[in-house]
Amino acid sequence: MHRPDRPHPTEVYENEVKELLSRMTVEEKLGQLQQLTWTGDTGPGGGQTEEVERAARAGLLGSVLNLHGAAHTNTLQRMAVEESRLGIPLVFGLDVIHGFWTTFPIPLAQASAFDPEVVVRDAEVSAKEARSNGIRWTFSPMMDVTHEPRWGRIAESCGEDPYLNAVLAVAKTRGYQGDDLAADDRVAACAKHFVAYGGAEGGRDYNTVDVSEQRLRNHYLPPFKAAVDAGVATVMAAFNTVSGVPAHGNPHTLTGILKEEWGFDGVVVSDYTGVEELIAHGYAADGADAARLALTAGLDMEMVSTRIAGHGEQLLADGLITEERLDDAVARVLALKFALGLFDHPYTDESAAIDEPTPEARAAARDTGARSMVLLKNDGGVLPLDATSSGTIAVVGPFADHTDLHGTWAGPGCRRFPSAGLLDAVRAAAPDATVTHAGADAEAAAEAARAADVTVLAVGEEPELSGEAAVRADIALPEGQAELIAAVAATGKPFVVVLLNGRPLTIGDWVDGVPALLEAWHPGIEAGRAIADVLFGAVAPGGKLPVSFPRAVGQIPVYYNRESTGRPHDPRSDEKYVSKYLDLADGPQFVFGHGLSYTTFTTGEPVLGQPSVGVGELGDGQRIDVRVAVTNTGERTGDEVVQLYVHDPVASIAQPVRRLRGFERVTLAPGESRELTFTLGADDLGFWTNDQSGRYVIEPGAIDVYAGTSSRAEARATLTVTR
Ligand code: BGC
Repeated sequence: MHRPDRPHPTEVYENEVKELLSRMTVEEKLGQLQQLTWTGDTGPGGGQTEEVERAARAGLLGSVLNLHGAAHTNTLQRMAVEESRLGIPLVFGLDVIHGFWTTFPIPLAQASAFDPEVVVRDAEVSAKEARSNGIRWTFSPMMDVTHEPRWGRIAESCGEDPYLNAVLAVAKTRGYQGDDLAADDRVAACAKHFVAYGGAEGGRDYNTVDVSEQRLRNHYLPPFKAAVDAGVATVMAAFNTVSGVPAHGNPHTLTGILKEEWGFDGVVVSDYTGVEELIAHGYAADGADAARLALTAGLDMEMVSTRIAGHGEQLLADGLITEERLDDAVARVLALKFALGLFDHPYTDESAAIDEPTPEARAAARDTGARSMVLLKNDGGVLPLDATSSGTIAVVGPFADHTDLHGTWAGPGCRRFPSAGLLDAVRAAAPDATVTHAGADAEAAAEAARAADVTVLAVGEEPELSGEAAVRADIALPEGQAELIAAVAATGKPFVVVLLNGRPLTIGDWVDGVPALLEAWHPGIEAGRAIADVLFGAVAPGGKLPVSFPRAVGQIPVYYNRESTGRPHDPRSDEKYVSKYLDLADGPQFVFGHGLSYTTFTTGEPVLGQPSVGVGELGDGQRIDVRVAVTNTGERTGDEVVQLYVHDPVASIAQPVRRLRGFERVTLAPGESRELTFTLGADDLGFWTNDQSGRYVIEPGAIDVYAGTSSRAEARATLTVTR
């Protein structure tokens, strides 16, 4: 069994947990496995959630979801701690996904920064704000690898690459949890959704995922494994089936891989009514059966539905679940509560509650917003705009003055604190300019553009168009917006399109007619100011796409790390019997890893520290240095993300044509060069086989190592792996 190199809460608190367990009735044990949702608008005493209050007082509740505020959580906590027989504290959980009061850019945007520190910062600010409001547990980070842009939850993910998702999952976990879960500015993290949720067929939420063992292990599991190794406290099961077996009742994934192979000793929580849903899946006969299947598969806590708590006693009496499994689940929940310091400090200091975004938090969100943006196109140098201009700048389009640019899952903050609008931000950034405005009406926008020296046209998706169950069959710009772009383009005046969206969009219909295109995603509370920072060059754009932009919906899935086929397509040939569409150009509109800056960069050949390495040496932990030089060849300071990919040309399983294995974002002055050193080790050079028991192999032979500034990187070195 693999043991992550860190203290396990169940071991650290073994004695405390044992002692408490020995005093608990079966009913009390089952209560600890129950999480109920707070559905009232007001806090306890508001009379809307009597069930929660009753269960807390009776000591039959482990956790509460969706209640926040220091005073509110304290009131309910007092019922559990002071009125229940054993006084076991509750743990309050909430979906703090990209901010509590201070909304940061959506996770897909943060992934575009290709900078783990950006993600750490969001998690730290979020943890501090949430914790001061009674929250000890966030249902984040989401680490569902996905190449499905129709799926609304792509906004919550870090895109199509397992490695990028893994690096950022670790960063976010570190930011939430720090070194000490009990610290008053930290919360427990939750790795979700376990597993393969991003593979839903057709992108329809909750849909079937039929996945081979090798795809599961090479593609979907790596971020979870990385988060578990980094000490993530909890894991959430996924709504989907995994090769026919619903994830909530899947012993292979929950127990075989997560708990046994990886040694995960934290809490596995259901996703909402995922236990109950085993019935609709046609996997469980009834509620009791659902409880049995989930618990025996390895699930520890049930959210919202109440099948385990409701049927557990009978299942135990009938010998359908074991006392050992029940105690193990309860021990995990109790150990989490000890690790969070809840037994010593169950209450939240009401006088220290943070009740609005601080200037520092706003500054962090603004900087993150700007660093997350991806300059997709900049022909003729329309950007950056001139902040000293005394000319006319038109700010037009449906999002020109929009103040909800928080995106999906924006937390309580989005209801209280509007996003900074773009129009005001442009006015502030160019104080001497005349700034005019028009909305979504194409005629008015064109008129404003005609009268202006330059136009900023903000288009995109309303926040409700992405996120859970927000799936689109057509991922073009919503109605009327392409026409709006055409009307502005027809003026012949320079303009820039700013995209505000929660997913990749199909933009092939209009992108050629647009001189400059900035992907801003949903940037959060400081949206307008962050966009203006990039438009006027106060921050140089340096983000890269964490997901491919398809040319058309019919091409989905299209992603960079696809497997080699027996009929690869050379775009220059007109060969018929190859893997291509008759009616569409090859490849995505914009590839994974693409993103421009206001300056230019060159990268050199990857230089290997050694030409060959033995399989045994890799197994012993040897890593190979790969040095890559990068130079700013332009006139302005800027950011570049140097990317390292590998490809195994001959292997016992067809390999992805490229696999990201390293990246580093650097800021360079004009003319400045830097040599970056990446390293490749056993984790980078092998792959998981189709063996269910988990076999990772590194096969002898050549490995191509590519370096560059997108997944199209061509500069190559070859590493030989010897027997
Ligand atoms: C989502 C989870 C979320 C949970 C609790 C579910 O519908 O899939 O990601 O954590 O609700 O709000």
